[in-house]
Amino acid sequence: MIEKKRKCVGCGQIKNREEMIKITRKNTDGAVVLNPDSKTFGRSAYLCYNHDCIKKAFVKNRLSKVLKTQIPEEVKGQLIGR
Ligand SMILES: [Zn+2]
Repeated sequence: MIEKKRKCVGCGQIKNREEMIKITRKNTDGAVVLNPDSKTFGRSAYLCYNHDCIKKAFVKNRLSKVLKTQIPEEVKGQLIGR
């Protein structure tokens, strides 16, 4: 089995997919969702479950640039409020 390694937008570390938060901009309607199910396709970014990484992802709109979209306040709140 291929190990699914992903890079964190915050710290740049590469970790197992299961250890990370997945943020996806859906292909269908462009909505930004956290930890979508496997049927959701779109451009994705990953973050550690770590407040520092989450904060870093919003510095200089890093997460927005990776996803090429604005991150809705609601999603931002869900991430930062964790
Ligand atoms: Zn990280």
